[in-house]
Amino acid sequence: MARVVILGAGISGHTAARHLQRHLKKGAEIIVVSPNSNWNWIPSNIWVGVGKMTKDQVTFPLAPIYKRKHIGFRQAKAVAIHPEGSPDNPQGFVDIDYTDPTRSGQEEQLTYDYLIVATGPKLNFAATPGLGPDGNSWSVCTAGHAEQSAAALETIIEALKAGERKTLVIGVGHGTCTCEGAAFEYTFNVEHELRERGVRELADVVYLSNEYDLGDLGVGGMTFAQNGFETSSKMWTESLFRERGVRAILRAHVEKVDPGVIHYEELDGSKHTLDFDFAMLLPPFRGVDMKAYANNGDDITDDLFAPNGFLRVDADYAAKPFEEWTPEDWPKTYQCPRYANVFGVGIAFAPPHAISEPRKSPNGTIISPAPPRTGMPSGVMGRTVALSIAERIRHGDQAPLRTASMAAMGAACIASAGTGLRKGSAAAITMYPIIPDRKRFPGSGRDLTQTSGEIGLSGHWTKLLLHYLFIYKAKARFGWFMIPE
Ligand SMILES: Cc1cc2nc3c(=O)[nH]c(=O)nc-3n(C[C@H](O)[C@H](O)[C@H](O)COP(=O)(O)OP(=O)(O)OC[C@H]3O[C@@H](n4cnc5c(N)ncnc54)[C@H](O)[C@@H]3O)c2cc1C
Repeated sequence: MARVVILGAGISGHTAARHLQRHLKKGAEIIVVSPNSNWNWIPSNIWVGVGKMTKDQVTFPLAPIYKRKHIGFRQAKAVAIHPEGSPDNPQGFVDIDYTDPTRSGQEEQLTYDYLIVATGPKLNFAATPGLGPDGNSWSVCTAGHAEQSAAALETIIEALKAGERKTLVIGVGHGTCTCEGAAFEYTFNVEHELRERGVRELADVVYLSNEYDLGDLGVGGMTFAQNGFETSSKMWTESLFRERGVRAILRAHVEKVDPGVIHYEELDGSKHTLDFDFAMLLPPFRGVDMKAYANNGDDITDDLFAPNGFLRVDADYAAKPFEEWTPEDWPKTYQCPRYANVFGVGIAFAPPHAISEPRKSPNGTIISPAPPRTGMPSGVMGRTVALSIAERIRHGDQAPLRTASMAAMGAACIASAGTGLRKGSAAAITMYPIIPDRKRFPGSGRDLTQTSGEIGLSGHWTKLLLHYLFIYKAKARFGWFMIPE
């Protein structure tokens, strides 16, 4: 029986596992490897970070779901891929180290017929000295980090209540970060919380980002058609910042975070410091630390993975200037070029380049967002690769692969701007295609009729509904597959 090994049980890997099981039933052995025992609906970590949800509301244990669905589960982290097998056996295998406390210290070699790499990002706090919960700032990237942020925020709120002035800085902690949307959401959730608690007047809320303009969000900004007029995500976002009194520092690369002081460089090369009492700064992402070896033991890590640690797939990685970027540069099947049975999905695949225009300061510091791969495309990639593999297992290696290029895919994202069934709000953003196509859509590169932004209370209700729907779906409850990715 064919064996499919999936590394990672996040949005893309867990989606791939469920679709493979649904399509192949007992016709294949499916094994998921993940160092965490829990699944996390990461978008709702924002609400954990302001104390409006608990860690338990955004996570659940994976093992019972996999048991019910006859999917194998190893609580372990993959440390190396051997796509050519060993001198005695050409079947590919993965080295895994158990993180399961009951098997602590154990290792295993897991053979596969098909491998899906869905390991998401390594949270690279080390890129900026002093960044992160082990340093001098907070994070909301994991549910645990978000809980720590909520506790630190509570201390600040108590001080504000006592009449002290406080500066809260929220944003990204390096010039090459992605996920500006999450920083945006946390900024406005914190701002909303401060208002709700009656302490907004004494707080200076600062958004610190590597974006060139507000509303860039790592996708080069968006243009919408609204009531017959064209408007930009820049104008739209700027008006929200003005309305809520949030100060923005843009085009910034954080060099170092000392206790209470952020050191940053701006795109014009000037250097500045910013004092803070509370800082939540997202880290840059890179691929998780995994090695790759040929069957003779040669280290082929650099063949399989790009320098940023993400898995090379069927993208065009030739370096070219921004003006020459095309939608065709982006991968379609997520198949590894050298090993046809290896695929990379979600954040784990190496993008060919950014989406936002790349920029450098006169000092040579890159200050522009890396391309986001948000939940919806990550889920779609996971499902698409699962279907490709299911078809190859059923019909043989010549079965055509399915495609899901981000250049042919739209995305919807709801960015919370504060919770509350009556007073909450969220920005509902849709765009098509994710990767701008300036030949098909001259100007902004996106279809104006399918690209939109709307902020209001209904956005909050939708975001809350999605929280419950996606957790229901991830638990593989009755009819889960009818809920879109
Ligand atoms: C705070 C925050 C808020 C966000 N909000 C939104 C939002 O509102 N909407 C949206 O669309 N997107 C949002 N995103 C982005 C979204 O979370 C990602 O797009 C999505 O999680 C990517 O899915 P993934 O499967 O690639 O990675 P992940 O979901 O990160 O999953 C990676 C998996 O790999 C596992 N893993 C790691 N290392 C190894 C290893 N060595 N071996 C095996 N497994 C490993 C991890 O434990 C995890 O299970 C947000 C992100 C953040 C950080």
